[in-house]
Amino acid sequence: MNKPLILVVEDDSTVRNLITTTLKSNDYRYISAPNGESAISNASSQQPDIVLLDLGLPDMDGVEIIKRIRSWSQIPIIVISARSEDADKIAALDAGADDYLTKPFSVAELLARLRVTQRRLAALGNTNAESVFRNGKLTIDYGAGCAYLEDSSLKLTPTEYKILCLLAKNAGKVLTHTYLTDKIWGSSWESDMASLRVHMATLRKKLEKNQDTQYIQTHIGIGYRMLKNE
Ligand code: CA
Repeated sequence: MNKPLILVVEDDSTVRNLITTTLKSNDYRYISAPNGESAISNASSQQPDIVLLDLGLPDMDGVEIIKRIRSWSQIPIIVISARSEDADKIAALDAGADDYLTKPFSVAELLARLRVTQRRLAALGNTNAESVFRNGKLTIDYGAGCAYLEDSSLKLTPTEYKILCLLAKNAGKVLTHTYLTDKIWGSSWESDMASLRVHMATLRKKLEKNQDTQYIQTHIGIGYRMLKNE
């Protein structure tokens, strides 16, 4: 069995080193991210098995990261934070965190929580492998984080992939601009709307290239919808 890959999100290098050293000596593989931006891009491009997440980060609040990751992935997220108030724990758990560890934490406890999470994943079986979406010639393998058109893999950027997953999970329904930008960037500024249009255009080009099947329908002034194809 492959060693689990853990994404460690922590801006404090001392704590980060403590965690990564612990993981390394306990047979885990890891990648680390010192801020929210790299946490999100690593979570989508590296497909880690578990995320260990600090909440106080320089560029973004950890709760925001949980919300963003949850918009496209069910990967287990364990929060490791100095915030010990119930309200903070509730906010993180409500946003979709699986577990919450308060700093200072014991290494033994962290390892125990990782084992519990792994057992839970094992009990669920390889559910990711089964979660495949099909629509006409389009296939999305959520577990692998890949999309295909017929047999060829679509080369999508992380943002295009997120948009595609959001549309696919709501196929047939119109998703508003605000809903999409909020799920993708956590905000709905005019600049986000402009970015959405750009990403949507490039995604659509890749999806609808060389064929007459239409996958994404534009509802002017409202949003976008994935059409169902036979
Ligand atoms: Ca911090």
